[in-house]
Amino acid sequence: MKKRLAVIGGGVSGVTLARLVQGSFNVTIFERESSLLQKLLRTGNGRANIYNRNIHSFAYNDEHFLSEHLPHIVKTLDDLFSAFNIVTYTDTEGRVYPYSRSAKALRALLIKDLKAEVKLEHNVEEIVKVRDKYKVDGEEFDAVALTMGSSAGLFKYPLDNGNAALLSALDLETTALVPTIKTIKVKENLKRIEHERITARVTLMDDENVIASDVGEVLFKKDGLSGIVSFILSSYLEWAVVRYPKRNYYLTLDLMPEFSARYTAEIIKTTDDLDNVFSPNISHYLKGRNEPLLDRVKALTFTPIPKNNPENTSAMHGGIKLSKLNTDFEVRESPNLFALGEVINIDGICGGYNLAFAFYSAKVVSDALLRKL
Ligand SMILES: Cc1cc2nc3c(=O)[nH]c(=O)nc-3n(C[C@H](O)[C@H](O)[C@H](O)COP(=O)(O)OP(=O)(O)OC[C@H]3O[C@@H](n4cnc5c(N)ncnc54)[C@H](O)[C@@H]3O)c2cc1C
Repeated sequence: MKKRLAVIGGGVSGVTLARLVQGSFNVTIFERESSLLQKLLRTGNGRANIYNRNIHSFAYNDEHFLSEHLPHIVKTLDDLFSAFNIVTYTDTEGRVYPYSRSAKALRALLIKDLKAEVKLEHNVEEIVKVRDKYKVDGEEFDAVALTMGSSAGLFKYPLDNGNAALLSALDLETTALVPTIKTIKVKENLKRIEHERITARVTLMDDENVIASDVGEVLFKKDGLSGIVSFILSSYLEWAVVRYPKRNYYLTLDLMPEFSARYTAEIIKTTDDLDNVFSPNISHYLKGRNEPLLDRVKALTFTPIPKNNPENTSAMHGGIKLSKLNTDFEVRESPNLFALGEVINIDGICGGYNLAFAFYSAKVVSDALLRKL
């Protein structure tokens, strides 16, 4: 008789885990929606940025917990996709996609060889430990994997994804949930430059330190900064605010990142010179700012409003406390209970790091489960 594994959530982490252990366990996936892998369809603008070849310690909120794993993630994912016969494509920035660049095609490939009992439209409400087994809504299993992900990008669910009671009944404490990978809202009114785009170096700072800095396209919204650089910095901002809530945070934009301050000062001597370099709207906006002229171009400062903007986010900072888990993502005090993917307090920056963790943590848990047989 094969042992029974209950997988709570049919997202990337749950389906991947099921695929990896299905030969050795009888797997049941519980999914509250009417089909599996619904969130995957929306990832990477429909292209699914599945991982990134540049995995580094700054890519995740907790480099210490992941330190043992970080050196192995890329190789593990290369092997995983190869084993699944999913051909990949890597762009010049190291971002990896399915070769089809289609989340829909990837979803079909992940589901095609799935051999698990799938219970759709089943929202799991109760998991109880009974001696060395678990009862999931009354049904008995030898092991349980919590793969309920997060409510990021899901407007119809509350911040806690509706799973707070389920987790607390299992004695799984969670850290505060904060949406990340999003437009950074700012205090300044940007109506005048709404929809304008510019390539800039964006630097996030607190009162004393530079926290992170990157160059890329910034898209101005009427009340915030959008675009990939802003998405990346939104994670660093929220991680910093959770850690140091009392500090003040700033964003500065260098609007001519290719040029030194000295050379920029030679090009822009008066406010009229702004017209020679920037679009009419941006030039007009800069003329209305009060800082010294060179600062308006090399260090244009905005004040971010953290813990804001839950709409259109792609990830959630926070979740099951990492102190509850060992490095196989098994709950320390509950053998054969695992928590993986976005439901735990690991989130990565924009660029494939969150799907990477969902796939990778599924592989780690599958290895741990197979070792237990
Ligand atoms: C718009 C968008 C774009 C994104 N793009 C990218 C990208 O390109 N690259 C990247 O790396 N990351 C991206 N992400 C993040 C990435 O999609 C997630 O980090 C990843 O899907 C998490 O996988 P998961 O399996 O842990 O959780 P989820 O994908 O959230 O899956 C959890 C599943 O569990 C189900 N569930 C929850 N509670 C219950 C319950 N009680 N009972 C039964 N079922 C339940 C949910 O319905 C869901 O299907 C994006 C996210 C969004 C929203």
